[in-house]
Amino acid sequence: MRKLKYLVLHCTATPEGREVTSDEIRAWHTGPVSKGGRGWKQVGYTDMIHLDGTVERLVDNNEDANVDNWEITNGVAGYNSVSRHVVYAGGVAKDGKTPKDTRTSEQLKAMEAYVKDFHKRFPDIRIVGHNQLAAKACPSFDVPKWLKSIGIKQ
Ligand SMILES: [Zn+2]
Repeated sequence: MRKLKYLVLHCTATPEGREVTSDEIRAWHTGPVSKGGRGWKQVGYTDMIHLDGTVERLVDNNEDANVDNWEITNGVAGYNSVSRHVVYAGGVAKDGKTPKDTRTSEQLKAMEAYVKDFHKRFPDIRIVGHNQLAAKACPSFDVPKWLKSIGIKQ
């Protein structure tokens, strides 16, 4: 068990307007490599924010400031034992490849509520984008700038 250090924001890297189910995410991440999955033991994220703003819990979490082994998800290699990962459905344009902030107004509202609640409970834990920890486009928006715009200072 390690101390939680990061809340990492992600996108599913799916086209604008396309819904993603938890079963799909699980199949992409934990399905066997031979069948196109990544073969991971656990899905990549603790929570998923759907297009309509619904937050779905994918992996159990006891909401304390530690990362228990059973809470670990596979969002960013090298950081998972000290991170919680949350993902929104979307992140690329309709062409299926160009990174784009596709958050719907419902997703924006839900993500804002999510990070504000998290920040209130864990003011010392950094909230970052996947692209701040690895060379990725994910989550397709500037997380520090967005946090500032909703009044979170860290
Ligand atoms: Zn990511």
